[in-house]
Amino acid sequence: EHAEAFGAASSEARTRDGALIEVAANIGHPDEAEAAFAQGADGIGLFRSEFLFLDRPVAPDRGRQRADYQAALDAMQGKPVIIRTLDIGADKQLDYLRLGQTPNPALGMRGVRLIEGHQALLVDQLRALLECRPPAGKGGLRIMLPMVTDLLDVRRVREWIDTLVDELGLAEDADFVAPELGVMIEVPAAALCAASLAREVDFFSIGTNDLTQYTLAMDREAPGLAARMDALHPAVLRLVRLCVEGAALYGRKVGVCGAAAGDEIAVAALIALGVDELSMEPARVPAIKAWVRRLDRARLAARIDEALALDDAAQVRSWVARSITTNP
Ligand code: PEP
Ligand code: MG
Repeated sequence: EHAEAFGAASSEARTRDGALIEVAANIGHPDEAEAAFAQGADGIGLFRSEFLFLDRPVAPDRGRQRADYQAALDAMQGKPVIIRTLDIGADKQLDYLRLGQTPNPALGMRGVRLIEGHQALLVDQLRALLECRPPAGKGGLRIMLPMVTDLLDVRRVREWIDTLVDELGLAEDADFVAPELGVMIEVPAAALCAASLAREVDFFSIGTNDLTQYTLAMDREAPGLAARMDALHPAVLRLVRLCVEGAALYGRKVGVCGAAAGDEIAVAALIALGVDELSMEPARVPAIKAWVRRLDRARLAARIDEALALDDAAQVRSWVARSITTNP
């Protein structure tokens, strides 16, 4: 037991000045949770559940979904597992879900917006999630909504969860731990009004891929724009700051699960802005933990306003690279 406690403590990622940063993994299938655990991930920061729905003639039934979510929870042995509800639409389409043609699919029906017109699909998924039993009655399961714009996207889901908890008799179940409900911050409106969201949700995870796309109005799939699609743009970082400030008003945690979370220079800036959790592909976890241990959060935080006042992402990158003081 002592060895286990020591092992857990020694795998923590603390900055040089003692800030604990949770370094978690992104997965698209429960099999990957074992790899994440083996790499020392502190949790699953993003389970992209839509991968269970892709490349199939019909949606997976509730039993199939429950088994997959349960497998991820079991593999993580009680560590937090954030399962994102179906994020379909825009670049990811399902043949069996007719979303209709629209000239701007990235601005159309996608993510949590499917509660309009596809309620059964989401309610079924929520039910599968609530039917899971986190190992040894520990918490662990967290539910996250993609593409949230404002509280209108959240309240209906919260009501469905409450109804399902009643229907399944979970309130009388001594082992039941109500899952936290969080939102992705990937729409600029959600970041700008973060304080409003923070009042009613349990946590934020910033999806820097989409937040960058929507803030810069640059398609994340457009090859010609790839060089400028950088989450270190001062406009994106200002939105990150607003998220952290809004979350702090209600004591909520802010994570990042976009690609920036696995990028060393971006990690330094995100930690300086007050982000406490980073989630990335499992293979990046050990390197980012090692990197976090070399950073001094307070020193960089004291100067990060200088970066927010710069002109573009390239300037921010060189500013951060120059400003970090790391231990070898
Ligand atoms: C993001 O948008 O940053 C994100 C993590 O979600 P996805 O890449 O699946 O859209
Ligand atoms: Mg996204």
